[in-house]
Amino acid sequence: MRSRLLPNLLVVLVLAVLAFGVWSFVYDMEGPEIAVEPKVDRISPNTKLAVRMKDKAGVRELSLAIRRDGQVQEFYRKRYEDGLTDRTETVPLKDANLQDGAFELEIKATDGSLAGFGHGNTRTLSLPMTLDTQPPRLSIKTLPPHIGRGGCAVIRYTASEEIHDTGVLINGNFLVPAFLQKDGSWVCIYPFPYRMSPQDFRKSVEITAADGAGNVTRSHITVMPFDRKFKDDKLTITDAFLGRVYEKLSHLTPGVTDPMQCYLAVNDAVRRQNMERLFELTRSSAGAMLWNGGFMPLPRAAVRANFADHRTLYYNGQLIGEASHLGLDLASLRNAEIPAANDGRVVFTGELGVYGNLCLIDHGLGVFSLYAHMQNFDVKTGDAVTKGQIIGRTDQTGLAFGDHLHFGIIVGGIEVTPIEWLDPKWVKNIVDNVNGVAAPQGQAPQAGQSSGKATKGKRRR
Ligand SMILES: [Zn+2]
Repeated sequence: MRSRLLPNLLVVLVLAVLAFGVWSFVYDMEGPEIAVEPKVDRISPNTKLAVRMKDKAGVRELSLAIRRDGQVQEFYRKRYEDGLTDRTETVPLKDANLQDGAFELEIKATDGSLAGFGHGNTRTLSLPMTLDTQPPRLSIKTLPPHIGRGGCAVIRYTASEEIHDTGVLINGNFLVPAFLQKDGSWVCIYPFPYRMSPQDFRKSVEITAADGAGNVTRSHITVMPFDRKFKDDKLTITDAFLGRVYEKLSHLTPGVTDPMQCYLAVNDAVRRQNMERLFELTRSSAGAMLWNGGFMPLPRAAVRANFADHRTLYYNGQLIGEASHLGLDLASLRNAEIPAANDGRVVFTGELGVYGNLCLIDHGLGVFSLYAHMQNFDVKTGDAVTKGQIIGRTDQTGLAFGDHLHFGIIVGGIEVTPIEWLDPKWVKNIVDNVNGVAAPQGQAPQAGQSSGKATKGKRRR
């Protein structure tokens, strides 16, 4: 009996060991999967790599090293005891003591399996990299512009390498994106926000760009801002007016039953939401000029209100609010036909709060025209339109009393004065600068100031 039982037990034991071996081989025979973000081959000391590791047996260790000329130098190592099967570690490269040039980045991850006598499975990912510590050099091809408060100007520049996230930075936080042109230069039409003073604006205009390695250039640019005075009116709000607003716009303030509260909400929260929506709608634009010459206003119209007219609102002698009017109010015949101000593409038609029925046209390079209080639309989103093409008719939809067209221009997401864009000479100057046939920009702030002529030899580099 004994002599037959022992071999049987041995067979079972051997089979069990084999099965375990096969099971553990099948279950986990490889080190963790490794994925690295961002997927770049140029890095700067500011680069942070997100290393994601996945393994059924848990991730036990991560290490990173630099391999260069046959030498390996480890600069990062971390052990994990919690057995997480999917983890992402952010590794900054600033402590890696990197040197300019090419190297291999070796990323090693080990799992928590019992393979290799308990050491686990290790996988190594080797990534060819180049360290780039030089921020891109930008060279400006346009002359410093005269730029009026509430207006805009253009800058054209080239970069020493491939760049992204580039444009004009205002106040250190507002980026007006530039557009890459066919000749390799970048063009940015940027606004001088009407709320800023010339002194503040002059100090706050920068040009910025990032390269593929994450090096960022930020440098101050010269502009010659001049002031524009805007009208400031006192407006007395009557109960009759509040009643008309409530009748027309109470659907914009659901739950509000008091006409005064309705008006204040329309003038504040609703207006702000509408402007945020406009900002979103104008964040992407065609990368080239779609327009052709000066912009066309509503024909045979009287100007009823100007850009940046400021209104202080009173009720029973009490200050209740304020509003800035960010377009031109143009009144013509009742339900007059509205021509598209220039060639472009319709990006929005529909109702938008205080604007009523609104049409928005993209003219490229971040320039948009806006038509509000319309009766109807003869075009739809996506349509290409040509200058003078009828897009609809005037009315008094939205926060408007009396038939008129509210006409606006938006540049880089901000409303600017349409007056400049209605002036063919001013527009030609912008176009010449975009096209690189340099001429001084803008109007001289005072009569008699010579604007001079640019010659090739005088062009700034
Ligand atoms: Zn208006």
